Amino acid sequence: MSEYSSHLIKFLQTEISTHGPMGVDRFMGHVLGHPEYGYYMTRDPLGRAGDFTTAPEISQMFGEMIGAWLANMWMQHGKPASFILLEMGPGRGTLMADIIRVCGQVPGFMDAAQVHLVEMSPVLKDAQRNALNGVNITWHDTLDTLPCHDPVFFIANEFFDALPFKQYIYSDGGWAERCVDIECEGFVFTQQMVMVDPLSDKGFPAPKDGDVYEDAFIRDDVMRALCKRIRGQAGAGLIIDYGHLEHGFGDTFQAVKAHEYSNPLNNIGESDLTSHVDFAALQVAALQQDVQVLGLAEQGAFLKALGIQLRARQLLQKASGETAQNIQKALHRLVHSDEMGALFKVIGLNYGASVAAAGFR
Ligand code: SAH
Repeated sequence: MSEYSSHLIKFLQTEISTHGPMGVDRFMGHVLGHPEYGYYMTRDPLGRAGDFTTAPEISQMFGEMIGAWLANMWMQHGKPASFILLEMGPGRGTLMADIIRVCGQVPGFMDAAQVHLVEMSPVLKDAQRNALNGVNITWHDTLDTLPCHDPVFFIANEFFDALPFKQYIYSDGGWAERCVDIECEGFVFTQQMVMVDPLSDKGFPAPKDGDVYEDAFIRDDVMRALCKRIRGQAGAGLIIDYGHLEHGFGDTFQAVKAHEYSNPLNNIGESDLTSHVDFAALQVAALQQDVQVLGLAEQGAFLKALGIQLRARQLLQKASGETAQNIQKALHRLVHSDEMGALFKVIGLNYGASVAAAGFR
């Protein structure tokens, strides 16, 4: 166990013994984001040597498709002479580097772009600085400090799954919140009855005994803030993540360490914690803000509609041997329904211009 983890565990034990069992949301918030010992604050978790691999780390083709989509939206918005090119949770900066490379070929795009990144991890900020060497970047801890003028064109890939959420379990006609408690120095899940109905007005089916409702209230707040930005300043954007297109019950709290699933209560501070994103809830939040939802799609269908297979063929013409095999494998991982193609979903948002939505049928 690393020194960071043992400090984090002591911190959690003290919090729980002082204030009582903590909700999954607070547990996840501390484990991922504790300013000194949090998982994201102390390491670069991405890539083969890390815990998980994201689409832009698999292949440049992913970022090229996203870049083409953003450039296309910028053009359909009348090529604003100054705009915010925003990424939420940019990881190693690979996606933004690919976007900038491909968009650099679109006349005027990079002259008009101001790159803004929302990132909490000092380690990953360093990685982003390296990957985007020579680019003028403004970092933000949250969306609050983003400039309030100029249109916003944004991407958030595997960002929303990392935001803390609450879990409620239904039984005998009532709800209990799932909490983390200490037992013999280890951590265990417990439940605490709640008096209010966490599901009221959310448009879910009636719950049955054992159903788990995940309340991603922070995700909803971030979604509202993003939508307010593009409604107030105009713009468009994409959110890509694993999740479902319809509301549903289920426990999707997951921990991943070294590319394997693990128990969220083990390896605390040394495994990534996430949950599946409810894209139907994102759509509701967008519509409540009067933002246009361009479409919802599976990642595979979306990337294919943007021409990723054609791009792979172009790259293959110049490649041979292992490089060619890697291009084929990367394409398969990104689009095939047994890989990321169906599990990952995309929502496209727009406001302030009438656009034809590439990628969504
Ligand atoms: N988008 C990248 C990385 C995904 S990992 C990719 O596709 O490769 C999640 C990213 O979100 C990391 O950069 C992490 O540090 C950042 N992050 C997670 N929670 C955050 C929060 N609450 N505020 C700001 N950044 C956060």
